[in-house]
Amino acid sequence: MQKMVILGATGSIGASTLSVIAKNPESFSAYALVANTNVDKMLSLCLTHKPEVAHMVDAKAATELKQRLPATLNVEVTTGEDQLFDLVSSANVDTVMAAIVGAAGLLPTLAAVKAGKRVLLANKESLVMSGRLFIDAMQASGAQVLPVDSEHNAIFQALPDSVQQNIGFCELESAGISHILLTGSGGPFLNSPLDSLSSMTPAQACKHPNWSMGQKISVDSASMMNKGLEYIEARWLFNAKREQLKVVIHPQSVIHSMVQYKDGSVIAQLGNPDMRTPIAHCMSFPERIRSGVEPLDFFTVGQLSFLEPDFNRFPCLSLAIEACAQGQEATTVLNAANEISVAAFLQNKLKFTDISKINEACLNYVPVTSLGSIDDIIALDNQSRRYALEMVAKA
Ligand code: NDP
Repeated sequence: MQKMVILGATGSIGASTLSVIAKNPESFSAYALVANTNVDKMLSLCLTHKPEVAHMVDAKAATELKQRLPATLNVEVTTGEDQLFDLVSSANVDTVMAAIVGAAGLLPTLAAVKAGKRVLLANKESLVMSGRLFIDAMQASGAQVLPVDSEHNAIFQALPDSVQQNIGFCELESAGISHILLTGSGGPFLNSPLDSLSSMTPAQACKHPNWSMGQKISVDSASMMNKGLEYIEARWLFNAKREQLKVVIHPQSVIHSMVQYKDGSVIAQLGNPDMRTPIAHCMSFPERIRSGVEPLDFFTVGQLSFLEPDFNRFPCLSLAIEACAQGQEATTVLNAANEISVAAFLQNKLKFTDISKINEACLNYVPVTSLGSIDDIIALDNQSRRYALEMVAKA
């Protein structure tokens, strides 16, 4: 029985994870659920999944949850940063699903890594921000990190065992790999006229053609910043050089990514676009369990198509690729700027096309200092956020 902590339990990945646990109760249990402010959702999750601990980052939300939970349920309600770090490091816990959205996921995810837990990584932003420090912490503690992001999970599944066992430090070339082909659908604006992008609303940006996801990642998919963050995530997970990573637009989202070998072989992972598949894969690796996802029907899929990314349409993608080449400082700045610009867009304070402008301005303006510690990373992240907020106020 694997006892799991679900960071971001009230979100989209949280819901998919709880659904896979419910399908496999003989092997997994939701030991603890973690969220920020959403008391209604947490209450309903506690009633259904009966965790031993429910942790709310927001103290007021924790108090309200405590008052509303029936005493007969016996759920311990906690709050506070130290309590969260203790929870993910607890000897009662085997596996941590890291699915808090954004930079807020960094410290609890890193605490789980440092405690040597099996970490199922959905929160790509933590790796984008902390890169080398994250990978080094993984090596020092012996934590097993498995990629939940559907693309990285697909790549992981298409890699040889020797590379799978050496995440973060693998040598792609010596394993016979020429390229990692990171696929992306191109999002809801792939075929929209370029001059219509500035008037796209948050509702239009969040209407992804294939995937159902939280708001932030949905906007990131519309701008293809999500693919950019994934590119940086792939760089770290698979120790990939720039020339080994390619982005391929694949509008149907049936192939979730591919690995190209030097003998001409390409190994792809396919499936319906449903996060329960990569989540179930990570939870049970190296075994396989039921996920509840319908089998892929090739006759319904019909055709698969592929395109080169248009960087004119998706400037955020090229910003991320350039930031990745510059190094971890630039990716930290970009990630923070993007969180501010996306939040402002969702609040109707910015046009869709301003997201990339603010991200680029932050990359150009925020002085890059070298990052020796998590405190340095958080200071740089804050600096970038402050500058992005100033730009939003002026927009
Ligand atoms: P959602 O917006 O659906 O959920 C976000 C979760 O994070 C909620 O549980 C929320 O709690 C919690 N949260 C937000 N802020 C904080 C905070 N400050 N402290 C603690 N918890 C917080 O996001 P998704 O599930 O879509 O995405 C989660 C992560 O997974 C992201 O990093 C995303 O990039 C990644 N991912 C998501 C995929 C998807 O299909 N959705 C696919 C691949 C990766 P509350 O409800 O209380 O606010």
